[in-house]
Amino acid sequence: MSQQTHTFLESVERTFDQAAELVGISEDLRHKIKVVNSTYTVRFGVRLRNRLYTFTGYRSVHSEHMEPVKGGIRYSPHADQDEVEALAALMTYKCALVEAPFGGSKGALVIDPAEWEPHELERITRRFTQELAKRSLISQSQNVPAPDMGTGEREMAWIADEYKRLNPSELNPWACVTGKPANKGGIRGRVEATGRGVQYALNECFRHPEDIKYAGMEGSLAGKRIVVQGLGNVGYHAAKFLSEEDDALIIGVLERDGAIYNEKGIDIEALHSHIMEHGGVHGFADFTDDVNGVLESDCDILIPAAMEGVITESNAPRIKAKLIIEAANGPITFTADQVLRDRGVLIIPDLYANAGGVTVSYFEWVKNIGHIRFGRLQRREHERQTKMMVQAIEEMVGKPFPVEILDQLVEGPTELALVRSGLDDVMREGYQQISKKWRSDDRIPDLRIAAMMIALERIADSYHSLGI
Ligand code: NAD
Repeated sequence: MSQQTHTFLESVERTFDQAAELVGISEDLRHKIKVVNSTYTVRFGVRLRNRLYTFTGYRSVHSEHMEPVKGGIRYSPHADQDEVEALAALMTYKCALVEAPFGGSKGALVIDPAEWEPHELERITRRFTQELAKRSLISQSQNVPAPDMGTGEREMAWIADEYKRLNPSELNPWACVTGKPANKGGIRGRVEATGRGVQYALNECFRHPEDIKYAGMEGSLAGKRIVVQGLGNVGYHAAKFLSEEDDALIIGVLERDGAIYNEKGIDIEALHSHIMEHGGVHGFADFTDDVNGVLESDCDILIPAAMEGVITESNAPRIKAKLIIEAANGPITFTADQVLRDRGVLIIPDLYANAGGVTVSYFEWVKNIGHIRFGRLQRREHERQTKMMVQAIEEMVGKPFPVEILDQLVEGPTELALVRSGLDDVMREGYQQISKKWRSDDRIPDLRIAAMMIALERIADSYHSLGI
């Protein structure tokens, strides 16, 4: 096995090559799909703190086989072109896999958001938006960003507002970006979506006993010991829902400044509040400096939810988790992936595992284009029909309907309930497809290659229907 170290983009491309070989698409088309179509680097100045600061931003478009192209914008001091291009490529494959009708894109601003005040970040974000808009790198029909590491609802609201100012006569300006707050054209359930999707993905995996057996486990998620790396948007929501709703035990949490480890389970709400107040996990009960020890601790499930390249060929042999679900993009390098695969660790790949974000972004975009909230037309009609049915049942059986379930039954679906339902459906179907594909052919080594193969088949089909 090669011990060569790959960049993030090379890791994605090696997976692509393996999958393309098995799918059997022509060399020409393979090359066309693989290459990044364009990457813009923008440098712009903002006058702040009595001097002029120059910022560097990127927007990479990997594939326009479907438009608009879609992908988050991250704020990180470590962002670079290789990272943005790898993330843009992953977006192409992710959208194809979960049938979100988008091409792949990604953006980044090289910045540490913690170093700037909110009003300064707002000015920087608005200037970045102007740079993107000038080059048509943001638009509801061509390129739709979303939140990623270091960005959230607040930044998306600034971006949407700036875009709206630049394009006052457009009919659907809010659709230029997703992940906005609900009162600024957003959709309920978007903030939690990626973590919620991780929960739904794990639940579906546990409905596949043969996959769970492969990982050396049995039973349900209840009582399974989980370690989470990164308690940001994705990690926090995944840990919260898995512990509160599925009775899993979060025994370890790793953050930038240290880790928390408790075999009896960590109170995720209390830890999250501590992080919000103190900016890190330091000072919380069961704190330890030994982050590697927690990452490599004996657990059932590991959820890397921070950043790429954290599991490499150096630490992969010491990882004890039986199942790793990639909530972050690219947390396992190509070589580490092979080490873990050879050891029989079941890996649920990023391509699928964190697709909850783009799935609910898709719902938000449709809502913005449609100018109507999901459930608006049906809810009261559902209520009326259900009440009639309840009345008929009561008349037939001569007994009143149990009150404890009456309200829930009669109330029509809210936007949040519909979003969760749609997301659950996408995540269930996605897992069923990749697991089936994996089991369909001995040459398919794991879920990652299976997921990439399904994505490639769909992208290749979209080219074939154009006669290419
Ligand atoms: P975030 O900025 O909200 O959270 C990241 C968390 O990881 C932070 O708490 C940070 O302190 C922590 N962290 C950073 N470096 C770390 C390290 N070396 N060790 C331990 N902890 C570390 O970001 P997010 O939106 O939750 O994104 C996390 C990952 O999920 C990224 O890879 C992102 O691309 C991916 N992702 C996010 C979304 C989304 O909807 N936000 C969607 C799909 C994929």
